[in-house]
Order: sequence, then C-alpha cells, then structure tokens
Amino acid sequence: MTDPIALEDQYGAHNYHPLPVTIATAEGAWVTGTDGRRYLDCLAGYSALNFGHRHPALIAAATEQLGRVTLTSRAFHHDQLGPFVAELAALAGKDAVLPMNSGAEAVETALKLARRWGYLVKGVADGEATIIVADGNFHGRTISIISFSGDAEAHDNYGPYTPGFRSVPYGDAAALAAAIDDTTVAVLIEPVQGEAGVVVPPEGYLAAVRATCTERNVLMIADEIQSGLGRAGATFASGRAGVVPDAYILGKALGGGIMPLSAVVTDRAIMDVITPGTHGSTFGGNPLAAAVGRAVVKLLEPGDLQAAALAFEPELRDRLEPLRNHGVDGLRIHGLWVGLDLDPALGTGRALCEKLADNGVLAKDTHGSTIRLSPPLIVTPDDLDHLTDRLTRALKSLAR
Ligand SMILES: *Cc1c(COP(=O)(O)O)cnc(C)c1O
Repeated sequence: MTDPIALEDQYGAHNYHPLPVTIATAEGAWVTGTDGRRYLDCLAGYSALNFGHRHPALIAAATEQLGRVTLTSRAFHHDQLGPFVAELAALAGKDAVLPMNSGAEAVETALKLARRWGYLVKGVADGEATIIVADGNFHGRTISIISFSGDAEAHDNYGPYTPGFRSVPYGDAAALAAAIDDTTVAVLIEPVQGEAGVVVPPEGYLAAVRATCTERNVLMIADEIQSGLGRAGATFASGRAGVVPDAYILGKALGGGIMPLSAVVTDRAIMDVITPGTHGSTFGGNPLAAAVGRAVVKLLEPGDLQAAALAFEPELRDRLEPLRNHGVDGLRIHGLWVGLDLDPALGTGRALCEKLADNGVLAKDTHGSTIRLSPPLIVTPDDLDHLTDRLTRALKSLAR
C-alpha cells in the first residue's frame, strides 16, 4: 500500500501542517499510532472530543440511529429533532434552538439572526447594522467571519471583506461600550478566547458586557463553541462568570466527536425573526447528528463532568506552576483548559509540540510560542501525571 502520508501530501490541499503522528485507533483519552505508539490526547480535537474518543454512550446512540434513519432533510420531520432541541434548550436554560453543522455555520447563523433582529425588532435602518467583536477573536473560517479576524494568516488575501463589524480590545468593557451606537445589534464574544491561547478576561468583564448590552438593547452572543459544554469547569464559561447571554453558539463537543453538529441557542422572541425559507442547511439537525447530540446533552445533564473539569483546575495548577522554572513564561488555567507560553528563546510552540509527541503527548501550538492543552474531561489523575512528567521532559530537552 502506498504511504497514506505521501498521498495526503500529493493530492490533499496543504491547509494544515500536521505533527508527524498518524493515528490509527483511539479510545477514551488515548490514541494509538499506525506504528503502535500510544499518546495521551491533550488536544482532544480542539475540544470536540470533550467526552474522549468513542465514548460508549455516544457510540451506542450513533449505532442505534444508523440502524434507523440518518438523513431526511428538513423538508420532512423526523423523530430525533424535537427531543434534541427540547433537551438542549433545557440544558442551556433557553427555549429555542437552531441546529447547523460546523461551528462557523452556527456563528454565521447568529450573525444573520442578530442583523435580522436589528432590522425587524430593534428598528435599525436597513443595511446599517453593526456588530461588535473583540480583538484576538476566532470564530471560524467563512468570508464574513475572517473579515473581522485580526489574524493575518486567516484574513489576508481573501477580500473584499464583509462590512458591518467593529473590533475592540478584548477584556476592556469601557472600550466595548464606547463602540456601541444606534446601529449596533449585537456583541459577539468568546467568554474565554480559545485559539488566542486560553485568554481569560478580567474578573467582572463579562458581567459588564452583559449589563451594557441590556442597557443599550444589543444582543449579547457568546461563542461557546470551544469554551462550552464542560471545558471551562461549567456547562458554559459564561455561566461560570455568572452571566447569561442572549444567545449561545455551540459546536465542537456538541457532536460528541462523531458528527459535525452546531447550534444557536436563544430565546423564542429572538429566534422567531427567522421564518421558513429565510435560513437553513441540508444537513443541519439531521437524525444521526440529533441522536448523538441528545446523548451528549445526557452526558452533561448530571453536571459531574463539568464538576470534574473544575476540580482538575487546582490539580493542574499544582502540577504546572513549577514548570515556570523550566522555560514556561505564561500559564493560564481555566477548568481543564491550559494556555502555556514557552520562553521564545527555547523554541516555538511547534517545537514543543514535536517534543511532546516524541514523549507520548498530543498537543498543538496556537500561534508563536503558545500551546493549548485541553485533554478530554474523562482524563484521570494518572493521565495528568503522565502529561506533567512528559511536559517536563519535553521542556528539558528543549533547554539543552
Ligand atoms: C472552532 C471554533 C469555531 C469554528 O468551528 P468550526 O467547526 O471549525 O467551523 C468558532 N468559534 C470558536 C470559539 C471555535 O473554537
């Protein structure tokens, strides 16, 4: 058989630069390479694998649904959508759900919803709506979304860009309030910026944004695609900060690592600006994804996975703080989620991730010398010992 990596290189687009690990099988928090080597998965599909690989309850739900019906299109009803949207709405404490597939699609859906709400409810003049976003954001890869990205790699050479967005410094509630005017329909914010390197805003920031949005009649939209569904030590990172946004955007872990599944979860009065024919998706809310999504919601209902992620936070702190003596310049921990800045003199985040892979740990640099660690929520303390031990080794080998 021809080498699969050579085929990928020859025929695939080069829009990623994967680490030199070829995964053949996976279970729980661990993956096995084609060469038989085992790795602790501390990327977990950028948090799409919050429940680990092939969680038995998720595999069972998918398998059962594969034996019934997988796709109907929304031209017809099926029996999984209703229960899925009801159960997800209940988990979020909201009452209306619009399912899509990828995270970027759900962000686009929220932007469309906000503009339509602005015109039909708030009374903004047609074509004038503005949406406030934050510097350092990552919301996906569509033309409109990269139009307001500050990341040159994501943004450059894709113009002309979609107008109607204003970016303000993340964590500065006064700057955000100052950017709002009568045309503003929404604020789109990550409660914790994941791709930026697990950047946690200052205490009180999200509550101040919430208060401003309420006062100015602007929708607060929380992109919880990466921060939500347990990662931050709570069902939502917003909730951990005591804040209820007008809309949640969910994705990644919502599909249980099996199906692409995303959603906008909001209030009925806001959602009802969308009417038949005004928005949709062929695969959005399909029976297979909905069945998996229901099983995901069921895993989150008791709250023990969220509690475990929160309990891991001090454990991670105890283990990782000493690494500041081994070339770690910055360390941010929120739930079971770590942003770690390597002293650039020791190497790039990429170099550290290569050393980690050599040592049996999968992680990915976000940019420059920053890496993110986001193991599945089902890791054990022994797994975290493995991570700490191998991270220490990797740092020492870079220092040599
Ligand atoms: C990953 C991510 C997205 C985009 O999700 P895709 O499924 O890759 O389109 C959007 N927002 C945040 C915060 C993300 O982490």
